[in-house]
Amino acid sequence: MQIAPHVYRHHIEEDPDSFGAMHPGGSNIYFVGDPADRVAIVDTGEHYRDWTRGILGYYQKLGRPQVSCILISHGHGDHTGGLDRIQEATGAPVRCHPRLAPRLERMLDPGIVVKVEDRETIDLGGSASAVALYTPGHEDDHICYYLAADNVMFTGDLVLGSSTGSVRNLKQYMHSLETIAGYNPARVFPAHGALVEEGTKYINSYIAHRNEREQQVLAALRKGITDVYDIVADVYPRDLRRNLHEAAARNVRTHLDKLVEEGVVVEHPPTYSLK
Ligand SMILES: [Zn+2]
Repeated sequence: MQIAPHVYRHHIEEDPDSFGAMHPGGSNIYFVGDPADRVAIVDTGEHYRDWTRGILGYYQKLGRPQVSCILISHGHGDHTGGLDRIQEATGAPVRCHPRLAPRLERMLDPGIVVKVEDRETIDLGGSASAVALYTPGHEDDHICYYLAADNVMFTGDLVLGSSTGSVRNLKQYMHSLETIAGYNPARVFPAHGALVEEGTKYINSYIAHRNEREQQVLAALRKGITDVYDIVADVYPRDLRRNLHEAAARNVRTHLDKLVEEGVVVEHPPTYSLK
């Protein structure tokens, strides 16, 4: 479905009860450019035959335009799964973060993978181009792509449409959110979940949510609470579902790691305290 002047979306619903489903709001594959000219493809989904078939079926429906490139947001399996078959079907070069290139080069024929530079402008087709933005935090090799012509930010897994993303390095993650907010995108098109209208406001609410959580973690430390699970109990609602406790503890740990990196907190395994 066309969702912006230069953007077509192939949406993959995921049954939350089925094996492997872990993306609230499903997954999105984008075709960007002009089907009468050339298009780029953003990400290639899970390595499931029916996903790849669906993506190539949609490509067929667009009239099999020339593919200028396949842009990869990051190296997780749900973004690079169908890459070998989709690359073969389109003959397009694959663009990705330099850290990811060696792995993708092993999946594909020589000369197919071309590294993306930070802030590089990439021609997509149909007189549209995208600026690549290195945006680590969810993963080291993460790139967001900004389509100025439609004022749209493709956020990969940095910002999701129907849930909060998982974070590997919160300090980098926060910096990456600031980077993409700096472009003031009108809309955010994530790799998973709903399309986001009022994109900049949404990114800023992500930033505010994390900052608020950080303040709560600091307040718990100030009370002398030193154990991760005790911090969870202090910061999260009392009725937090049992199966969410591990996720909450992981989240608190990413905040503590950030504060340690910033020299505000010291870790005395397995506890933490203010410096
Ligand atoms: Zn993902």
